[in-house]
Amino acid sequence: MSDQPSAKAISFNSARFLVSASRLEECPPDQGAEVAFAGRSNAGKSSAINTITANGKLARTSKTPGRTRLINFFSLNRPDCRLVDLPGYGYAKVSRDMKDDWQQHLDHYLSQRQSLRGLVLVMDIRHPMTDFDQMMVEWCQHNNLPLMILATKSDKLKFGQAKTALLKISAMLKHYDCVEHLVMFSATTKAGLDDSRAALEAWLEGREAEILST
Ligand code: GDP
Repeated sequence: MSDQPSAKAISFNSARFLVSASRLEECPPDQGAEVAFAGRSNAGKSSAINTITANGKLARTSKTPGRTRLINFFSLNRPDCRLVDLPGYGYAKVSRDMKDDWQQHLDHYLSQRQSLRGLVLVMDIRHPMTDFDQMMVEWCQHNNLPLMILATKSDKLKFGQAKTALLKISAMLKHYDCVEHLVMFSATTKAGLDDSRAALEAWLEGREAEILST
């Protein structure tokens, strides 16, 4: 039979909210492939997910009260392929205990999830490599998890400034071979959309991405 579901091309527009999880046990079965998005709060993670999935409301789910600290899963048209929205870090003035709790929760997910193929770290191109970003990059490096950096809100800078900012980020990351892609991105102009989709698709399909941005 040629009509196997796994042969279907991935369409990011097909993304639908699947489930929220507060603990590893509540996550969907750990099979197939998924890519997770992380970012400091306000970096532009939700906007990036909405842009990639062409669904202006999708990641809003993750922002509804009660869900901001959960891991939110989105299904795609190909069975067992998922996008994952990790809780934003640094929301409001959470207590130290809550931060520890958040970190433990995330640690469990990142360290134990077999289907995790890569991490997308969203950072504001004007304020890159915060402590949180540094922590995530170190984590990926240590655990051999492929990383894509989306340097977003690039429309806030003139093109030349954005290019310079990207070069600076690239220099900061040169010793980290976990970084497979560094993409200048904008939810407003859709810059970097094709490249980021190509990289995600390749990760989910388990092959090399053919993109120009790194
Ligand atoms: P999150 O907390 O990381 O999910 O951040 P959001 O996606 O909610 O974005 C935070 C703010 O930045 C919102 O006001 C967005 O409209 C704005 N924003 C996000 N991405 C972009 C972008 O690419 N360009 C511009 N100009 N604004 C953006």
